[in-house]
Amino acid sequence: MSRPGGQALPADGTDPEGRSGPGGLLEKLLAAVRPEFRTDELVFEPGDPVFGGQRCRIAGCGSAMQARGLCHAHYARWHDNGQPDLDHYIATAGPVNRDRPARHERQVDLGKLGRQLKLEMQYALQQRRGHSQGKTHPNTVQRAVSVLAASGAVSILDLTEAAWAQKLPRRGDHARALLITARREVEDLHEGGCRWDTEYLRDLWRLRALGVPGQQPSVRFGQIPQPWLKALAKRWTRWRVTTGGRSDAAYQGLRAITRFGQFLAASKVPVQGLGQVDRDLLERYLAVLQHELAGKADHAKYIGSLNAFLAAIRRHGWDDTLPATAAFYPEDYPKARRCASTGNGRARSTPAAKLSPSARAARSATPPGPGTSSRGQPRHCPTGTASCRQ
Ligand SMILES: [Zn+2]
Repeated sequence: MSRPGGQALPADGTDPEGRSGPGGLLEKLLAAVRPEFRTDELVFEPGDPVFGGQRCRIAGCGSAMQARGLCHAHYARWHDNGQPDLDHYIATAGPVNRDRPARHERQVDLGKLGRQLKLEMQYALQQRRGHSQGKTHPNTVQRAVSVLAASGAVSILDLTEAAWAQKLPRRGDHARALLITARREVEDLHEGGCRWDTEYLRDLWRLRALGVPGQQPSVRFGQIPQPWLKALAKRWTRWRVTTGGRSDAAYQGLRAITRFGQFLAASKVPVQGLGQVDRDLLERYLAVLQHELAGKADHAKYIGSLNAFLAAIRRHGWDDTLPATAAFYPEDYPKARRCASTGNGRARSTPAAKLSPSARAARSATPPGPGTSSRGQPRHCPTGTASCRQ
């Protein structure tokens, strides 16, 4: 027995990384996979919340929808009847008398997988059923299973995420995403949970699995072109969510950094590092934002989030090359949405990044007034707390 890549397993069958034996991965899998998933052929009901599909719209049918809102049998009957008005047909058609029970259209065959790989996939699918938010078509699962079976791997952990992704190179391929998620589920089980030290290195962080509250289950860093900017974005995001921030705010912040990174990548003057991010460059970015987003609600959020990012770098000393001039000012924000409750003119001319802690606290304590949201935070307030959290 050998691993892909030529690394031989010890002759006694023990695993160098503790995946078999007492307390190893195999034992954890055996304990974790429930009986309904521990079978070679997984059959899913049409109404399965994750692996099922929509049902036929004919009352009392219940079969899986295939086309035009109808199951295979009802579609065939509608077609054979000359394709009458569909709504009328759905309202009046009766159940189909089947000679044979309806074929189980939603099934996954795991028979070609070795023992451990099969258990791992069963576990991953069980987990997916447990906390997936969307539908996964069994055909997608079957494609992922075929890749696993053809790989020669003993465990899904034998290959890195990148190596599995290479086997299904098309970005956006659901089977590719399923394989990567399955590997993470198995790795979490192996390591005893989703952990910051493994997640931090990745370009997709499962914030919900890390216990971060909020609507966004995950955030992505892969669209930030510059490694130095991505590294700072990760540091900022981790700091925010580990100090009580919500995943939604982290997501908004990353959108802003990603957009800024893409602006830098398209710049005629190459930007090699944070040391070149000065006021001049930010003003050019403001012009691009004005051109692309003028009048849109997101316009102020992109500025506010980037300003909060730069302020955090400066405040925590994450990168001392950041020029002192790299900050946005209240006047930089779109005029139409300027907050009406940000205090007097002197305060309005002070960049948010340079406010003292006491001044920030005073700002936070500003009572709700005109232009404030129902939660008491100023809407798109250029110098207040709302923009810093976006
Ligand atoms: Zn039907």
